[in-house]
Amino acid sequence: MPKVLVLPGDGIGVEVTNVSLDILNIIGEKHNIDFEFETELFGGSSIDEHGIPITNEVIEKAKSADAVLMGAVGGPKWENLAHENKPESGLLALRKELDAFANLRPAIVYPALADASTLKREVVEGVDIMVVRELTGGIYFGRPRGIEKLKDGQEKGFNTLSYTTLEIERIARVAFDIARKRNKKLTSIDKANVLEVMQLWRTTVTRIGETEYPDVELEHLYVDNAAMQLIRRPKSFDVMLAGNMFGDIISDEAAQLTGSLGMLPSASIGEGAIYEPVHGSAPDIAGQNMANPIAMILTSAMMLKYSFDLDQPARVIEEAVERVLEKGFRTADIYHEGMIKLGCKEMGEEIAREIKDYKETPLV
Ligand code: NAD
Repeated sequence: MPKVLVLPGDGIGVEVTNVSLDILNIIGEKHNIDFEFETELFGGSSIDEHGIPITNEVIEKAKSADAVLMGAVGGPKWENLAHENKPESGLLALRKELDAFANLRPAIVYPALADASTLKREVVEGVDIMVVRELTGGIYFGRPRGIEKLKDGQEKGFNTLSYTTLEIERIARVAFDIARKRNKKLTSIDKANVLEVMQLWRTTVTRIGETEYPDVELEHLYVDNAAMQLIRRPKSFDVMLAGNMFGDIISDEAAQLTGSLGMLPSASIGEGAIYEPVHGSAPDIAGQNMANPIAMILTSAMMLKYSFDLDQPARVIEEAVERVLEKGFRTADIYHEGMIKLGCKEMGEEIAREIKDYKETPLV
């Protein structure tokens, strides 16, 4: 029985989580999956109730669950709190406690939405990339770090970019495993021409590929070239692997190809697994039934695929989303003239209808 801790969070996080739970319940009925959902406060809602963004009790529940499904946290009400008391620091604490070292960010351009991209339709239509970013190491965490005074009165800022063999091996295996489930092509991104740490990155990824994944095609790109190729020939990529900082940049660039924040799912996995949409709590539209629930619905499909090996039910959800878009249904963020505008709940209902009708009208 898959045990899921649900953390709706704040703002539209709550709205899109409710919709995606409805979808998961329908999938559960259809495929005989007995989900066990437990819902807890997280972020601003936890601050209001307990004074802190995440309680130890919730962290323990997250550790004992098979997966955590999260909406989004934050909002103006909690913006002026000290950094460590803010809703977002609860998210960092959760990632740390679950040792979520691998961040997975798919970027898919649906044919029906190809015009939402800033790039030409023929360049982006059909793009389907998975960016795997190392999340708990590299320059964002390396020591020493700081700003120090120099004798001549200047200041010097410094950070440390380091990776151990073990850190590279474990993230490489995540990326190779995913590539194996997809089109068996992995692009590893580094800066091995300039940085020793990236030479270690490249030789380690190569070794893991040769010894454990000979069936996966591996290419290496320097990060500057990767950034260019990603907008020049995005369709040629399948899985992209990068360290923390390069992955941060490349995953945002890949996301921008799709043109819409409301469509982007993500997962952070390691000891535990956290599934969350890329977007935040969107205070500007919260409580108005305007949010696009698709990012969250696709996030729950990722959970089925990566935590529970339920590839087929995940595919059913993804195809239902595609069909609803093809029929012209849109939430406000992806709406354009001639389409049918829906609220958050209604978009969820259309996707639920497609899932129920799945057998009757298979996608051709
Ligand atoms: P945001 O992602 O919440 O919103 C940015 C813009 O995109 C807004 O105009 C919003 O209306 C729109 N948008 C976002 N998701 C949408 C959706 N599903 N459907 C339709 N429109 C959508 O980013 P922000 O405004 O910079 O941040 C708002 C709050 O969320 C802040 O407190 C921030 O710290 C927090 N935040 C949390 C997370 C997280 O929980 N993982 C991520 C990013 C931001």
